[in-house]
Amino acid sequence: MAQGQKTSIFQAKTITEARLWQEREIVAAGATLGFIPTMGNLHDGHGSLIAEAKKQCDKVAVSIFVNPMQFGPNEDFEKYPRTLERDIELCSRLGADMVFTPSTAELYGRGLENSSYVEVPNELTNKLCGTFRPGHFRGVATVVSKLFNIIQAHKAFFGEKDYQQLLVIRRMADDLNFPVQIKGLATIREADGLAMSSRNQYLNKEQRELAPILYQILNQLKEQVREQNKSIKSAIEMARAELSTISRDQLELQYLEACNPETLEIISEDAKNPDLHPEIVFLIAAKLKDVRLIDNLKV
Ligand code: AMP
Repeated sequence: MAQGQKTSIFQAKTITEARLWQEREIVAAGATLGFIPTMGNLHDGHGSLIAEAKKQCDKVAVSIFVNPMQFGPNEDFEKYPRTLERDIELCSRLGADMVFTPSTAELYGRGLENSSYVEVPNELTNKLCGTFRPGHFRGVATVVSKLFNIIQAHKAFFGEKDYQQLLVIRRMADDLNFPVQIKGLATIREADGLAMSSRNQYLNKEQRELAPILYQILNQLKEQVREQNKSIKSAIEMARAELSTISRDQLELQYLEACNPETLEIISEDAKNPDLHPEIVFLIAAKLKDVRLIDNLKV
């Protein structure tokens, strides 16, 4: 599409408007619908999900909603970047057909405390990000199930960037029989390897220079385990030690683990034999002062 050329995009601000659009454009037209849930402040990572949805489906819907239920009391809900107009414009340029921008008042009409919720079992949610963000995955599973019920898409697209979230949503959709296919897509990165994230803009110049270390460490682990045949345990221990030499006011490691990519079971034995763990996902979370970054690499 020529730059600057806009497609017409329908903005549904209420659940009723979204449902009417879905009935008219999808059910009545016999079309397939791809859906991308987001919190807005869209970047090329979101863009890649929209592009893939367009390839796989007749119509594409994007939701933009900063979900209060998935933020802890001391997290960045208030200051999370909100750029709605620019986001809708971008969705339109990328060829999305509908953008759903519900209000908190309508989605959580009885208040957050009085809302029913969806809880995915602890084996997936009480580790990694779940340890540092209690209640986060309950918030994610709840809002995504609400959005699935409203939008009624055939396929929903998520980034592997939020690897644990992707597994939590897959599990939820499977356990609760949501009639939607979950698609996980590769992480989109800046030229220096930093995974794109709405939170990257909080980084000051110094922090931005340090941030690609997360991806470097993941690649180093991959090389040590897969090429140098080092044991997973000792490679992880070395990487943690390396990160601990950075001063804590610059970088505070929350976790660095090697996990089974299907179950997220942490691989803690001193495993060297690649046959024992033919697939591993390395996952990392670190705070650069107030900015929490996550990344992962599957090998
Ligand atoms: P968010 O707006 O951060 O909630 O993200 C919405 C969706 O975009 C989620 O499925 C994310 O995993 C995905 N996403 C965020 N960043 C990236 C990225 N760098 N590459 C690919 N997908 C991403």
